[in-house]
Amino acid sequence: MDENRVGMTTAQETAQAQQHEARDETVRKKVLIKSYGCQMNAYDATRMADLLAGQGYDETEAVDQADLVVLNTCHIREKAAEKVYSELGRLRVLKRERAEAGLETTIAVAGCVAQAEGAEILHRSPAVDLVVGPQSYHRLPAMLAQAAQHRRPVDTEFPVDDKFGALPRPQSRRIRARGHTAFVTVQEGCDKFCSFCVVPYTRGAEASRPPEKVLEEIRHLSEAGVREITLLGQNVNAYHGEAADGRLWSLARLLEAAASIEGVARLRYTTSHPRDMGDDLIAAHRDLPQLMPYLHLPVQSGSDAMLAAMNRKHDRALYLRLIDKVRAACPGIALSSDFIVGFPGESDADFNDTMRLVEEIGFAAAFSFKYSRRPGTPAATRAAQVEDDVASARLHALQALILAQQTAFNRATIGRTLAVLVEKPGRHPGQVTGKSPYLQPVHFDASPALVGDIVAVRIEGQIANSLSGRLIGHGAATHASGSRPAAVALASGGLP
Ligand code: SF4
Repeated sequence: MDENRVGMTTAQETAQAQQHEARDETVRKKVLIKSYGCQMNAYDATRMADLLAGQGYDETEAVDQADLVVLNTCHIREKAAEKVYSELGRLRVLKRERAEAGLETTIAVAGCVAQAEGAEILHRSPAVDLVVGPQSYHRLPAMLAQAAQHRRPVDTEFPVDDKFGALPRPQSRRIRARGHTAFVTVQEGCDKFCSFCVVPYTRGAEASRPPEKVLEEIRHLSEAGVREITLLGQNVNAYHGEAADGRLWSLARLLEAAASIEGVARLRYTTSHPRDMGDDLIAAHRDLPQLMPYLHLPVQSGSDAMLAAMNRKHDRALYLRLIDKVRAACPGIALSSDFIVGFPGESDADFNDTMRLVEEIGFAAAFSFKYSRRPGTPAATRAAQVEDDVASARLHALQALILAQQTAFNRATIGRTLAVLVEKPGRHPGQVTGKSPYLQPVHFDASPALVGDIVAVRIEGQIANSLSGRLIGHGAATHASGSRPAAVALASGGLP
């Protein structure tokens, strides 16, 4: 707990925040929220922006015009903290220049680096005015009031009060300005403790939001025109939200309830763990037309020895069984995954197991990285680190294979008619851009008046990782995905 908040009740904090807000009513200020890393950080950034809007802040992208700069940091990459300190060095110069011009600048560090470094950030970066962890940003108004008194608050608690319950409802006009797709965090934290990952340390233990609160947020988004909702969680399929009647809801049940909300045409969820891929969730891919035929299910490696060293709590056979079940429930589903190559102790044989797994499954997309040490994790200090040039060569080979599979998956959609959610005007005049059920970007000629609609597009070509097509219908495909997709024949890999 920040020493400046000791003894202060929630009511006092709120009153302090309201006084601060009242002061700002007549003078609008500008905030720049620079967000790094995952989709949950992107979601947190929108919630912070909504919160700060009520405190008199409008968003800007021009850092030199920002009265408040929030660095919403990510700790997933190597040297993440050092990169934040470099950025803070640049902001310190900017703060000084603005001060010379008579302008005040408040600098806040939020996100996972804030959580991991805490008060150390204040010691190393004198320009920083406040540090707030990912579980505490609902307290920003009170913290800004303290920062204005040069008290430099730090809050990296894992508070028991409901962060989301304390955040204001976003205004409909702000939702509309963000488009027709939205994220909703339903679960945070992780209990899995994979040996390479910082999330259990920065985001804490698994915690799920009550289903009623999630559904209320989805209803509000839908009423404001959002058509596609992605449910987010560090371990989203471990969701176990407690309802008002004391019963625990699974993610499958939550998806089913979300699908019944009027206006919700598409649902997605990410990121999942194989161990939490229950039969009810797999069945939802068969039974819910709104649930898009796309599954991101990280495996990390195809080698049982590496999976054990990573403390993944599943083996290759379990993953393959799950994929079979998912494909039986939803033929043609687009599969995506995460891979780490060059994990400490990875031999050529281990890497070949990964390549064989990829060949066997056939992915529509995947993210792959060289292992990088994350300080504080068990794997960071292991002796058998893999030489960088070996890891680079493996990554290159894996990415070439994945790219070939992705290209084949995209090519297999040519000639088909897909339901496309139109998201925005395209880069060329007269063109719009949207997403297929498989999350592929699709470009085609149509009026920007269609933004927000789901239309039928005949796929005619492939440009890198995007598709081009021709609008053939508007109306028939406006509900859900238009239909459960037919199986996609792949030129390589094992997809049906
Ligand atoms: S399951 Fe995911 S979030 Fe949890 S420790 Fe493993 S990699 Fe990190």
